[in-house]
Amino acid sequence: DQPQTTYKRVLLKISGEALMGDKGFGLNPPTVERIAREVKSVHDLGVEICMVIGGGNIFRGLAGSAQGMERTTADYMGMLATVMNALAMQSALEGLGVFTRVISAIPMDQVCEPYIRRRAVRHLEKGRVCIFAAGTGNPYFTTDTAATLRANEMACEAIFKGTKVDGVYDKDPMKHDDAKRYDKVTYDEVLAQHLNVMDASAIALARDNKKPIIVFSLDEPGGFRGILAGQGTYTIVR
Ligand code: UDP
Repeated sequence: DQPQTTYKRVLLKISGEALMGDKGFGLNPPTVERIAREVKSVHDLGVEICMVIGGGNIFRGLAGSAQGMERTTADYMGMLATVMNALAMQSALEGLGVFTRVISAIPMDQVCEPYIRRRAVRHLEKGRVCIFAAGTGNPYFTTDTAATLRANEMACEAIFKGTKVDGVYDKDPMKHDDAKRYDKVTYDEVLAQHLNVMDASAIALARDNKKPIIVFSLDEPGGFRGILAGQGTYTIVR
């Protein structure tokens, strides 16, 4: 029996690093395809899917500015990196027969669509996956904030943050054997205890608009579909 779900429209946020597989940089096509299959299996249930993909596997604004680059320029480079990741994911999804639109916060009409909210909603209604690229279009933000913003605008029921670990821990579970996972945690606890979920502006935006964030592991095969059906382990921030 395949797991079922009551969700109708969700947003999946993954970091750019999720696409690099076991490499230290860039895109690993088999990894992109594996994640595309996860998305397809949820799409097959009839769930409308928004995606936001980071750019950290290619370029991060902060890293550039730490090396002397002007911060806003470096941030624009980071936003461009997210467009490359979005195009790679589009290609993988369409290879699996899932119609997909890449929608950029920075217009680049030859490459993808510009962000027009009503048009994006229509794509979702028609069953197309919408990948929101170029973050918020503004420097000094992150793709976590972009994910929360788009989830609000698209009226997604929840933000699913796919990571390497199966939830939010009190300390880094990769480094500490005694790290404890939370089943649920509030936005304010995340902010006060500096828990590693999303950056503070993204958490505050989710809190102020009552958008739940579900942190789960994308490394479990079938994980995304299972989590949407309420199975497996995860942390819910609400
Ligand atoms: N970025 C930005 N504004 C945004 C979203 C992203 O300036 O609204 C830039 C920023 O420099 C960031 C980079 O794009 O470092 C890549 O995004 P992010 O670090 O969120 O990617 P992730 O860590 O999720 O891979």
